[in-house]
Formats: sequence, structure tokens, C-alpha cells
Amino acid sequence: MRTIDELELGGKRVFIRVDFNVPLDEQRKVTDDTRIREALPTIQKAVRAGAKVILASHLGRPKGRDPKLSLEPPAGRLRELLGPEHEVVLADDCAGDGVQKVVRDLKAGQVLVLENLRFHKEEEANDEGFSRQLASLCDAYVNDAFGTAHRAHASTAGMVPFVAEKAAGYLMKKELEHLGKLLKGAERPFVAVLGGAKVSDKIKVIENLLPRVDALLVGGAMAYTFLKAQGVEVGKSRVEEDKLPLASKLLEAASRLGKELLLPIDHIAGTSPDEKSEAREVKERAIPRELMGLDIGPKTRELYRQQIRRAKTVFWNGPMGLFEVEKFAAGTREIAMAMADLREAVTVVGGGDSAAAVNEMGFASRMKHVSTGGGASLELLEGRELPGVRALEK
Ligand code: ADP
Ligand code: MG
Repeated sequence: MRTIDELELGGKRVFIRVDFNVPLDEQRKVTDDTRIREALPTIQKAVRAGAKVILASHLGRPKGRDPKLSLEPPAGRLRELLGPEHEVVLADDCAGDGVQKVVRDLKAGQVLVLENLRFHKEEEANDEGFSRQLASLCDAYVNDAFGTAHRAHASTAGMVPFVAEKAAGYLMKKELEHLGKLLKGAERPFVAVLGGAKVSDKIKVIENLLPRVDALLVGGAMAYTFLKAQGVEVGKSRVEEDKLPLASKLLEAASRLGKELLLPIDHIAGTSPDEKSEAREVKERAIPRELMGLDIGPKTRELYRQQIRRAKTVFWNGPMGLFEVEKFAAGTREIAMAMADLREAVTVVGGGDSAAAVNEMGFASRMKHVSTGGGASLELLEGRELPGVRALEK
């Protein structure tokens, strides 16, 4: 796979697929610009090389044209980040005659942001005609949208064969390197911390990581399916009943492989998964019938911290509890702190909510890598080939 450094960019129309699918508030202000900032090195490289830069992204899940999901807010944020010496223009569409004309008038060093790709249903349908239209806008294609690389859409896969030259951007390269290293050549001890909402979302990741790690620390709602599979009373905690046999199988696989699969030994529990619930410490594995586990308890926090402290590689996906509510956020914060405290180790965070937690809690800069791709990072760690990556390799 080539990277942007290997392309001759000067004077060319360079189409960069970025992931500007950022969170917006009610005033449509960008509340987290991480993905825009992470795409800057690639954009700046193209601008400085004198390319005519065309940026394309989706935002949200529009059904047809939807002004609320215009790329204007991220384009505005990009304008601020690039500074006054660079011109950033927003097109009113991403395909069609109007855009063709705007592209024709682009000058070297200018940046054109195309309007939301998903205003056209052909984007997600990976339609060939639409792919050819996008391809006709440019001389070279760069994919820096790691967060969308697990989708075979027109802008991530379909258009690529119709462009003369293609390469990965710096963010794409960085993501593939850091996440790829977890599967091949991670320094040990390698500790994986997995939590979040559902076991079913993470089964394949667990299966693929288990042979590679030394210990797997489990938290979040997912832990209760494992505990119940061991016959532990979990009260009203979230359990995926149909995944109990699978949880048992994973526990067996861990012991067969000689890996430690650790489950919470105490909990912070409540009566409902929201602000209104009180937070009660449950000092043992079993949870009283009327309560649900909403965070790992203090003994578990300490146990997991000790495990992380001895690691040379730590991968974390999935919050340890209902971290959106402060009284159930301590477990998640403890994992983030324990990872942030490591000096020599490689620390990698993947997953949409986990990355958001690390960003909000202010630990992102102390991690080796925080992935910008939730679904994409998980699919990669499942051992799957991402369509957006395959398109660059062909
Ligand atoms: P990620 O996006 O990092 O992969 P998930 O989407 O799997 O993570 O899970 C995140 C969600 O899981 C959060 O909204 C969090 O509140 C929720 N969650 C974690 N632990 C619990 C729990 N014990 N009970 C209910 N919800 C939980
Ligand atoms: Mg999530």
C-alpha cells in the first residue's frame, strides 16, 4: 500500500476521503474536533505540495438532503485550524455539474470541501455510476478516513479503481500501524481491557485477542453475562441470555489457553441505569436481586490497575460502567488513569464510547494511540480485512 508521501501531488486534483463525521450540538457546533485535527497532517501535506485539494466525508445518517447534516460546521472548524493563509470553500453538493465547475476553477493550494456524501443514497449503495462521478473530479485519491474504512461505499471503495493513483493518508497509516501491531508483534505482557454494552458486539474481538494476550480484563455490562454464565447471581444487571453458552465457551477457551480472564469481584450497583439511581457498593461478586451492576467496584479497580501496571502493551475497548453518569464513572476513569500512568508501555484505545470517555476525561494525550474509528478498529481487531484498506492495496 502506498502512502501520500509516495505521490506526486503538485498541481494535481487530489481527492482526500476524510472522516469529518464529528459530533454536533443543537446549535450545530462541533463538540469534538479530534477527527478534523487528526486529518490535518494529510491535508496540510497536500496543500503545501500545491495540490488542488478536494475533501469528502459523510456526516450522520441523512435520508436524502438534510441541511442539519451539512458539512458546513466541520468545514468551518477546518478553516479555523488551517488558518487565514488557506482558503477553504464548501461546495453545495458532492457530485454533478456544479461541483465539476467548482473543481475546474480550483487553484493550487485551495481546499474544497464537498457536501455530505450521504445526501446521495448511491454513496452507501456503492453505486458504480456515482463512484465514477466522484472519480472524475480528481487525478489522485487519498484515503485518510480510517473511521469509515470498514464500509465498502462509493467514496471508500467504489471510486478507487477509477482513479489513476491512490494512497493512504497519514491518519490511515498511523491507525493501521498501531492497531495492526496489537495483532502481530505486540510486546508482552499484553493486557486487553474489554467492556461496554454487549458481549455480542465484542465476541469476535475477544476470540481473536485471547490467543495473543496474557490477560483479559472484563468490565461493563458485558461482565454480567460472563458472571451469570459462571452461576453468579447478577440481580437486574444487563445480561444477554442467548449469549450465556458462548460466554461459558470463552471462559473455557481462556483457561485452556492458560490466559487470565478476569471478571469483576465487586460492583457499584443501582436500581436503574440513569442519574436518578442511587449508587451502592456491592462488596462481593454476587449482586442482590433488586440491583443492577453499573460500574466495577473499588477492589476490582485495584485488581485491574495492578494488571495494567505490569503490562508492556495495553489495549482498551469499552467503558467499565455507565460512565455518562458521574457516580458510575470511577471504573472507567481508573482504567484511563492506569493506562495514562504507564511510561514505557504501548497504550491503545479503540471504540467510539471509550475514545469519547478518554477524551472527555482528559487522558487522550497520555495514550500512545486513541483510535478515531469505533467500528473500524473493532473489525480490524476481529482479524477482518477492511474494504477501504483493500481498495488501496489492489
Ligand atoms: P465502545 O463504543 O467503546 O465500543 P460500547 O458501545 O460497547 O463501547 O459500550 C458503551 C456503552 O456501554 C456506554 O453507553 C455505557 O454507558 C454502557 N455501559 C457500560 N457498562 C454498563 C452497565 N454496567 N450497565 C449499562 N450500561 C453500561
Ligand atoms: Mg459504542
